[in-house]
Amino acid sequence: MKISGGCYCGDIQYHIEGEPQASLQCYCRECCYLSGGNSVPLMRFDRDSFTVLSGTMKSFQRTDIDHAVTRYFCGNCGTGIATETPKRPGAIIVKVGTFDDPTIYKQGAAIFTCDKQDYHHIPDGVPVFSGRPS
Ligand SMILES: [Zn+2]
Ligand SMILES: [Zn+2]
Repeated sequence: MKISGGCYCGDIQYHIEGEPQASLQCYCRECCYLSGGNSVPLMRFDRDSFTVLSGTMKSFQRTDIDHAVTRYFCGNCGTGIATETPKRPGAIIVKVGTFDDPTIYKQGAAIFTCDKQDYHHIPDGVPVFSGRPS
């Protein structure tokens, strides 16, 4: 699978070449903050599959919690692009909304539903995990 993508302002452009490890829809509180309130569709790839073609992503990592993830975003427009977690070494989790063609995403497992809000809806028939899927 080949995927091209980037941020809202266009400063960051990336390319992915490789098969996705997983398709996920994350309901965690952090995604809620960063999306403006909604759950976030994500696809996970081998880190080596992901290449930044232009621009330099900024990164953010909380220092007040253990096992903090690293979040990559555009420093100009603020679009969140990808995340790396110490729980999944060697993988990168990319936000589907930054794909040039988000329609390639197929509804994935609902994860971190422990933080789901009443106004979030989980589609019928998808696997549901209260936290991180094993
Ligand atoms: Zn941008
Ligand atoms: Zn999340």
